[in-house]
Amino acid sequence: MMPVNYEKAREEMVNRQLAARGIHDLKVLEAMGKVPRHLFVSEHLQDQAYSDRPLPIDLNQTISQPYIVALMTEALDLSSDDKALEIGTGSGYQAAILAEICEQVYTVEKLPELLEKAEAVLKRLGYRNIISKTDDGTLGWPEYAPYDAILVTAGAPHVPRTLLNQLSDGGRLLIPVGSNLIQELKKITRQGDRFSEERLGGCQFVPLLGQHGWQ
Ligand code: SAH
Repeated sequence: MMPVNYEKAREEMVNRQLAARGIHDLKVLEAMGKVPRHLFVSEHLQDQAYSDRPLPIDLNQTISQPYIVALMTEALDLSSDDKALEIGTGSGYQAAILAEICEQVYTVEKLPELLEKAEAVLKRLGYRNIISKTDDGTLGWPEYAPYDAILVTAGAPHVPRTLLNQLSDGGRLLIPVGSNLIQELKKITRQGDRFSEERLGGCQFVPLLGQHGWQ
């Protein structure tokens, strides 16, 4: 069997799955063209890492389809001096994408076994601007709040108040809200004490479990 050319596969993913479908933020396209997605999945799935679909990771969790990662990242309107919080580290792939674009990334994962793996990959790749912990991410991460951007990568029954409270003025929260099978992607922007909401379409995420999520 011919060895897979991951760099070429990644370039094709960016062109065909992202740019061709309307992702236009160059920071997002560059980050996704750079981060080696195949290193965030099990060895037997590496040759599928750049295909147009989500992939299983350990403990029945999933790494999102590349287009969804790009769509959510773009919708966060990130700048280089932003501080971002991710809920649901999973494989660590989305955290790496955020770390390419923002100044500092905080990420929280409920399952210690997943976080341990993700931390090892992120360390191996040399990321120094990602801080992670095992905890219930529906509580946010109050110590480092407020955040310019908060990204929830699991499906919630409702928008946790705790996360709204940890947004900076002008901060953006992206969160899938709906049932435990299908959700709608919501973007909430804070202006002072006001929160405006946009709907970005349907999506399917694993459930957000926790105090302000599914019980
Ligand atoms: N962003 C990940 C994919 C996330 S899958 C990536 O790039 O690979 C969703 C993750 O959310 C799972 O790992 C799941 O364990 C985690 N999760 C679910 N509820 C959580 C909670 N309350 N706090 C933190 N993580 C949670």
